[in-house]
Amino acid sequence: MYCRECGKDIGNLKICPACSCDNRGKSRLTAGLLQLLLGSLGIGRFYLGYKLMGLMQIGATLITCGIAGAIWGFIDGVLILNGTPEKDADGVPLSA
Ligand SMILES: [Zn+2]
Repeated sequence: MYCRECGKDIGNLKICPACSCDNRGKSRLTAGLLQLLLGSLGIGRFYLGYKLMGLMQIGATLITCGIAGAIWGFIDGVLILNGTPEKDADGVPLSA
């Protein structure tokens, strides 16, 4: 595994010894809960770095006075908690 900040091979370490950046994936639980609670604003998606998806969810909320955005956000939150997507927008696998 390579550090996502400096590119150094860090083996199985999570904290890079060279630049001390954190290479752990973002929390799936945090992302899922954010999306369940604030999915109509795409907050869980923004947390994972999927900015376009987040913007689309805000758009859906605005266009349908909150209905589609709330439903989509909620379903998306359930999906995140159940393992979709597997990685954040940078390709880093999510942690538990
Ligand atoms: Zn590093």
